Amino acid sequence: MISCDYHIHTQLSGCADNDLSIEKIIQLQQIRGTESIGITDHDYSYQSKTKTIQEARQSIIAAEPTIDVHFGVEAQMLDYQVTSISIRLASYFDYVLMAPNHYHLRGVAQPRSFRDPRRVALHEIYMFEAAVACPITDAIVHPFLLSPDVFRFSEEEVAAFGQEMMRNVEQKRLIYQLDLVSQRGLGIEISPKMIRFNQRHLVEFYQLCLERDVKLLIGSDAHNTKQLEELSLLEPILEELGITEEHLWHPNGTIS
Ligand SMILES: [Zn+2]
Ligand SMILES: [Zn+2]
Repeated sequence: MISCDYHIHTQLSGCADNDLSIEKIIQLQQIRGTESIGITDHDYSYQSKTKTIQEARQSIIAAEPTIDVHFGVEAQMLDYQVTSISIRLASYFDYVLMAPNHYHLRGVAQPRSFRDPRRVALHEIYMFEAAVACPITDAIVHPFLLSPDVFRFSEEEVAAFGQEMMRNVEQKRLIYQLDLVSQRGLGIEISPKMIRFNQRHLVEFYQLCLERDVKLLIGSDAHNTKQLEELSLLEPILEELGITEEHLWHPNGTIS
């Protein structure tokens, strides 16, 4: 059974369910037998207010969790050397998840075309490099994952486009980045979204991660209670890839 989940949104994220409180998440995870979790709302949910951040941290302590609860945040790269979060704001969190491809958000650099796999490949590796080079990054979330909201593909189209895109990512360039990721001790997220959106092209990517000694972060990216449960969708793929505890990334700094 998967025993950690380091990418969970609460009601503080506008895109998450209204009833998804920190208390509820902790309770559900305790019942499930999860050992370690991370609360990670979007950085813009806090509107740069440190008071809101401190309140969120307080409610984790107030819930008196019997499991490890870490307090992180999800930010995004806007472009090379440009992030949505400042170093000062990031310092309030135990870890920062960096999204290289939040194309649905204003200010995020876009590929020249969403219909040309070569263009998308060039842009995805560029944004991935940007996230790796960013000193604030602790882990990179959903890299090379094509979001159906943005790409508006059918399931079959997404699968075919993903394969074509991955073939267009220059291997040497990617391997060089993965070696940097490994040296810096950054995590790379593997999430049930890859199963939900039928993204088989990511299998090759994760194989490469493992070959280069990159640690993988397990994250549901849950925005509701159903998605919290969907973490189990990952089990067959973890088995297929031969991922065990030694391959997993964990954040430093525990609250409980
Ligand atoms: Zn969200
Ligand atoms: Zn995200």
